[in-house]
Amino acid sequence: MNILLVVPHYPDSFWAFKTILPFVGKKAACPPLGMITVSAMLPKEWNKRLVNLNISPLWQKDLFWADYVFIGAMYIQKKSVREIITRCKRNKVKIVAGGPLFTQDYEDYPEVDHFILNEAEITLPPFLAALAAGQTPERIYTTGGFPDLALTPIPDYQLMEMKDYVFMSIQVSRGCPFSCEFCEITALFGRRVRMKSTQQIIDELRALYDLNWRGHVLIVDDNFIGSRKEVKYNLLPAMKEWMERHNFPFTFNTQASVDLADDDELLSLMVETGFSSVFLGIETPEESSLKECNKKQNSNRDMLESVKKMQNAGLQVSAGFIVGFDSDTETTFQRQVDFIQQSGIVSAMVGLLNAPKQTALYSRYESENRIISAASGNNTDLSLNYVPVMGAETLVAGYLRILRDIYSAKPFYQRIRRLLREYNPHPNLPAEIGIVAFVTFCKSLYALGVIDAGRRHYWALLIWTLFARPNLLADAVSFSLYGLHFRKLFGLR
Ligand code: SF4
Repeated sequence: MNILLVVPHYPDSFWAFKTILPFVGKKAACPPLGMITVSAMLPKEWNKRLVNLNISPLWQKDLFWADYVFIGAMYIQKKSVREIITRCKRNKVKIVAGGPLFTQDYEDYPEVDHFILNEAEITLPPFLAALAAGQTPERIYTTGGFPDLALTPIPDYQLMEMKDYVFMSIQVSRGCPFSCEFCEITALFGRRVRMKSTQQIIDELRALYDLNWRGHVLIVDDNFIGSRKEVKYNLLPAMKEWMERHNFPFTFNTQASVDLADDDELLSLMVETGFSSVFLGIETPEESSLKECNKKQNSNRDMLESVKKMQNAGLQVSAGFIVGFDSDTETTFQRQVDFIQQSGIVSAMVGLLNAPKQTALYSRYESENRIISAASGNNTDLSLNYVPVMGAETLVAGYLRILRDIYSAKPFYQRIRRLLREYNPHPNLPAEIGIVAFVTFCKSLYALGVIDAGRRHYWALLIWTLFARPNLLADAVSFSLYGLHFRKLFGLR
């Protein structure tokens, strides 16, 4: 059996960093972890090829070769999914589709031959069993259950050209104990956090290490500390011991809830293990909006202090922010800007509220007759799929003001400087030196220090860093390059 695993193209977006990939000699930021995990669940004797359209084209000869094309996709990849399906149909290749896009909207894809919906650990085996028995598989495999992650194999990392990616990624857990109204994670993965065993994680690290990967490893969990005790007392001590034994080959980053700041011991342990950054869902400094969306873990706390604590401990903080809650007012926009500027959060992903299907927010808005379309899956593309209380025009105008006020060159460089003042990296982290860092630095001097309209801010930052925080020069350059990406993405100078 010849299986062609196709990863659809995604447009440039906040986290795709397409503008700056050439600076670091890479073709994509993150690997298709879901697809290579599914690949590892297929029979060993099958032939498998991976085509990531973000890296290379889909050739006709690959389609001729394939018995089945597997497509896994998220909402943001919709357009490319349509194109792949059309090509497969033209070539009479059977399609097997899965992932969040199809799990929620499979009815929109009548051309697809088989759907492996929800989590493949449960829904893929019966499809494979039908093929093995010589039967025609069902069209739809779905489940209301959540699998034990002990069933999840080590992803087929070797199917990829690892050098094309900025990060490698692993998944430790699925599910989140919180119930933020706008979030679809609990609908997709449940509120009970399911974790892989510590041994599975160590095996995945070893697999990456043996394939000669060194550098960034993204832990893709939606909330890495969702099962705090397990993470703190079992997983992290074992990861730390492994990292020490292997001379810190990786730096980790992940996503976590803000209450990470409440646990000094956990915070230190993460940094000592090699974590260098964390993404938080801060959403809004408006207490009423936090209550409205049931973001309990963020309520009644000094969030600026929580962020600062993490930065001081050795974690760079990036975060998500949302505008468009019913409780938001016209003063919310400036409050968001002030918070972000004071926080030193360089990568602040501010998005318009949207209500994906299956969220509690979607149900509420539907009952209030306020849903107007499906969510686009990209909360920075100015689309709204509901009727906002303050009016769409006011909301979008306020949102664009936030982007201008945080991503124009001057406030952006101010934020980098604020972060560099607070951030204390752990000495175990591998330094970003070597030929790649040097080439990146030289390219940045031309792009940011000569061509870019904000060049005087770049030189000012470099000089300040050289004197005030010389060990953070590589971070200063990296963050400045992020700024180039954000300004291009948002059409700013
Ligand atoms: S904490 Fe994060 S992952 Fe968990 S429900 Fe809230 S937004 Fe979703």
